[in-house]
Amino acid sequence: MKNVMIILAVIFFIISALETFYIYNCQKYYMEGCDITMKTPMGENKGMDFEKENVFGKGELNSAYAKYFKGNSYLNPLVDLDKCSLPMFNVTFEPGCRNNWHIHHATKDGGQILICTAGKGWYQEEGKEAQELKPGVVVVIPANVKHWHGAQKDCWFSHIAIEVPGEGLSNEWCEEVIDEEYNKL
Ligand code: MN
Repeated sequence: MKNVMIILAVIFFIISALETFYIYNCQKYYMEGCDITMKTPMGENKGMDFEKENVFGKGELNSAYAKYFKGNSYLNPLVDLDKCSLPMFNVTFEPGCRNNWHIHHATKDGGQILICTAGKGWYQEEGKEAQELKPGVVVVIPANVKHWHGAQKDCWFSHIAIEVPGEGLSNEWCEEVIDEEYNKL
C-alpha cells in the first residue's frame, strides 16, 4: 500500500511538472509570436499596441496588388461596394512595406485621398522630399502626379485610401522605390 502511494505521488509530481513546463512554453511562444509577427523594435507601436491603435482593422492580405508592393500589405474594405459607389479601404503596411511609384490618372477631377489611421509612414511625390505620415494626417494626392506611399522601415502603418471620383480614371503602376532611396528616409 505504501509503495502504491509513493508511485501515485511520483506520477502526480511528474504530471504537475509537465503541465507547468507546457504552460510556460505556450506563454513564451505566444509572446515571441507577437514580436516576430509585428517586428517592431521602435517601441511606440509594438505588437498588440498597433493592433489596438489600428481601429479600422487590418483585413486580409492584399494578394491582388502584391506585385505592385514591396513587402506585405493588407486591405480592409470599409464600405459595401454594392451599396456605396465610393470605395474606401483601410490599407495596412508591415514595417518596410511600400507601394511602387504610381499615378492615378484622370482627365477631370480624380486623384486619391489618404487618411492616416495608425503607426508611421511616408508619402513622396516625384521630385519632392518624402513627407512623414502619422495618425490624423490627411494627404490629398492630385490626379496625374507620380508618387508612392507606405510604412516606415521599423513601424507598421495604416491609412484609409479613397479614390476621388472623376472622369477618365486609370492607375498606372511604375518602378519600385529602390532600397537605396527608401533606407535614407
Ligand atoms: Mn496612391
